[in-house]
Amino acid sequence: MELYADVIVDISHEKLDKSFQYRVPERLKSRIQAGMAVKIPFGKANREITGYVTGLTGRAAVSTDRMKEILDINERAETIESKMMRLAAWIHSQYGSTMNQALKTVLPVKAKVQEKQKKTIRLLFEKEAARAYLQEAKRKHYAARVRLLEALLASETKTLDYNAACKSLQITASTLRPLIKDDVLTVDADRIYRGPQIQAEARKRQIPNEQQQIVIRGILEEARNEGRPCLIHGVTGSGKTLVYMELIQSVLDAGRQVIVLIPEIALTYQTVRRFYEYFGDQVSILHSRLSQGERYDQMQQAREGRVKVMIGPRSALFTPFPDLGMVIIDEEHESSYKSETMPRYHAREVAIQRGKMEHAQVVLGSATPSTDSYWKAKNGEYALFSMTQRYEDRPLPKVEIVDLRGELKAGNRSMISEPLAKAMQQRLEKGEQMMLFLNRRGYAGFVSCRSCGYVAKCPHCDVSMSLHNHGRLVCHYCGYETAQYKTCPSCGSPYIGGFKAGTQQIEKMVKTMFPKSRVLRMDFDTTRKKEGHTRILEAFNRQEADILIGTQMIVKGHDFPNVTLVGVLAADLSLNDADFRSGERTFQLVTQAVGRAGRGEVPGEAFVQTYQPDNYSIRAAVSQDYEAFYEEEMAYRALMKYPPAAAMMAVLGGCEDEALLSQGMKYIREYISRLDKKHMLRVIGPAPQAVSRVQDIYRQVIYIRQKDRNVLTALKDKLEEYIEINSGFSNIHIQFDFHI
Ligand code: ADP
Ligand code: ZN
Ligand code: ZN
Repeated sequence: MELYADVIVDISHEKLDKSFQYRVPERLKSRIQAGMAVKIPFGKANREITGYVTGLTGRAAVSTDRMKEILDINERAETIESKMMRLAAWIHSQYGSTMNQALKTVLPVKAKVQEKQKKTIRLLFEKEAARAYLQEAKRKHYAARVRLLEALLASETKTLDYNAACKSLQITASTLRPLIKDDVLTVDADRIYRGPQIQAEARKRQIPNEQQQIVIRGILEEARNEGRPCLIHGVTGSGKTLVYMELIQSVLDAGRQVIVLIPEIALTYQTVRRFYEYFGDQVSILHSRLSQGERYDQMQQAREGRVKVMIGPRSALFTPFPDLGMVIIDEEHESSYKSETMPRYHAREVAIQRGKMEHAQVVLGSATPSTDSYWKAKNGEYALFSMTQRYEDRPLPKVEIVDLRGELKAGNRSMISEPLAKAMQQRLEKGEQMMLFLNRRGYAGFVSCRSCGYVAKCPHCDVSMSLHNHGRLVCHYCGYETAQYKTCPSCGSPYIGGFKAGTQQIEKMVKTMFPKSRVLRMDFDTTRKKEGHTRILEAFNRQEADILIGTQMIVKGHDFPNVTLVGVLAADLSLNDADFRSGERTFQLVTQAVGRAGRGEVPGEAFVQTYQPDNYSIRAAVSQDYEAFYEEEMAYRALMKYPPAAAMMAVLGGCEDEALLSQGMKYIREYISRLDKKHMLRVIGPAPQAVSRVQDIYRQVIYIRQKDRNVLTALKDKLEEYIEINSGFSNIHIQFDFHI
């Protein structure tokens, strides 16, 4: 069989779409791979140059008699870029996307425009707020604004090059003006900042205590020997940061470089400053407020070895260090490490793959490791290190469960229980600070009984069902439907219904109950403007408020020594997400929230309010017992064959035409059944996705579970082929999503 290679002659975003096809000679067929550097004849004179293979195919794109042949594989041209290309090829094969999408994910975008004239359009709104604004613009038929907002939303950095955008989107200064006035976006002229500049005094280094030393030594030894990924399970306040810094130092001493991933939301001044204090200008940060050009500059600095430690969210993983020695992933359980767009890769998996390819050690850390990682650690695939004591043996906060069902019986319908209110009063009198936490996600469609705590769940999937506008309860895994209950099927009470509570309502309630208290609120509304986050956190840190109310953004990695009380207002909110990971997420959120209290001299106290006080995730979080949680959770996963007990792949379909989508998804389901003659797969769906329609695109999903991940990867390849050759799918957008 003939084999053809798509070859690009320069590794850059612009050149990706300009590939040339070459014939692969017989002698190279078995060795050639995507990502490799090859010698090719180029141009009229057939000058010999180096190109890079982006893909291999059996089908020729042009007439084959004019096609030139690859001369040889260029073994010596193994540059950092070609390493990154091989990583892209791996991502492409694992997660299903085009090779170009994978390449664009790993390669930095070159800044084309001359630095001096550079103008950048920068989205100031958080994405959620911007989407709402976009909807508004659509309704009013502001076509140019719609194009611009859509492009900004599609950009990971939330920025666009001004000149390029004007051209490609056909917008003008008058399109921008009203948006600038509304603070939706801004145009930065020239170079306002050349990357983030943080001035930090070098500080006296802390000395690791015994617990920290044991972990540091253990990880360095693992790195010297087997090099398995290392998981640090360290309780909140145990001092993981110092462990990371000592590890980084030893890698730097060996002349190599380090990538540190932290969730964007924790990428605050506070955290980053600690790294600057230690490593000075060897450190650099990537975050979503950098423009493409600034990002590229940062990557260039890393490539040339001027920067040796790169800190950033998911995409910092693709920093082109010449000799990467370690990748550290802090808060490894965070869902933001998973990409929500194609390719839907998980940073943890890609880090491990990059580590393998470049002989770099991977270190994962969390107070509440993901069940996935913990499971691998228990199986010996990762090396496990535990830190069970807080630094200086500061006690973990005293935690109390408040049964909200009892509050209702006692006639208290507010979201703040008697015991919590009493504790708040005491703190206000003593001048100590507190945090009230609502673990809500974007949508909370579940239905529960306020009298007995009953929650409507799918009888087939054991996940919460969601209440839809048409008044029926729907399972988002299998599509099962039932009528909404008028009375509770468990206790007969009429107090059954959708659960509603927002941060704004809580703020109002607190102000009524404690008129003299100073309250700060942190949620989408108050943080959508630039620096909104930092402003609120810093004001709270300066003790300009007594009470901070917020969603999960307030629990991530912040250290407020004067906070002595934490209230989790309704732990059930995340417990009832329509998702098999809801118990895990609740355990993590409640544990992290509780861990915010008592980090200073004064011991902390926490109240966890819930309608389901007997739920194991909540009980385990309250007693800060990770093992107990893990055992119960894994029993459930094993029983239901959910990851990590089995691998799971979701086939996500999107289409403007609902009937066409249903038809297409049905065909996919049937095709899978035909392939699966031996019944090796557990297939459910198609069903509507949890958010079943976004911007007029209908969305459905099919879930497939199998013990062996490789079986699913092979199935994905088959499905990709099937979809490509069947024209019926040309208007349906299919994505693959692996849960591990
Ligand atoms: P974690 O990330 O594990 O929750 P941190 O790394 O934030 O914990 O550490 C908690 C607190 O303990 C911080 O204020 C940190 O400065 C302090 N700390 C940790 N280890 C040491 C040490 N060896 N010497 C002095 N202070 C330490
Ligand atoms: Zn009930
Ligand atoms: Zn179901």
